[in-house]
Amino acid sequence: MLRPPIKHCKNCGTAVAYRIPDDGDTKERAICPVCHTVHYENPLNVVGTVPHWGDQVLLCKRNIEPRWGKWTLPAGFMELNETVAEGAARETLEESGAQFELQELFSLVNVPRVGQVHLFYRARLLSDTFDPGFETIEARLFTEAEIPWDEIAFRTVKETLERYFADRRTGRYAFHAIDVL
Ligand SMILES: [Zn+2]
Repeated sequence: MLRPPIKHCKNCGTAVAYRIPDDGDTKERAICPVCHTVHYENPLNVVGTVPHWGDQVLLCKRNIEPRWGKWTLPAGFMELNETVAEGAARETLEESGAQFELQELFSLVNVPRVGQVHLFYRARLLSDTFDPGFETIEARLFTEAEIPWDEIAFRTVKETLERYFADRRTGRYAFHAIDVL
């Protein structure tokens, strides 16, 4: 999931070189030798939900790489011109076709190694029938005992699910800030 290095200038198309800019910056950036544009790279947000129905949680079996065939919570990259909540709802609808009501923000997971921040809301399902899109092979509900822990696509999803079921046992849902290092 690491982003490949920038190869060409977004402004003029010239091959860029990675070096520390001359302006007091301390990090290497992709810099264009012709038009001198500095290409800053910043973390991306992955936004999604923990959709729940009674004591079950909705997982989607991935029909796309990476981690084809593994199970995940519905989530994906946030788009421009949307809020975190809008992105989480959009991804949930696209990947599962579920009907749901978005609830509180549940987890924020830093993944500095790949430059990502993952954000999951709890979502109350309004129906237990789903209509997944092309990115999903199958969308189905799992109790905690049924969760295929060894077949979960991403550590951010596993960490979020573990905290969800732990909170569910206590009956109180907290906000969780998690670092995956
Ligand atoms: Zn350029």
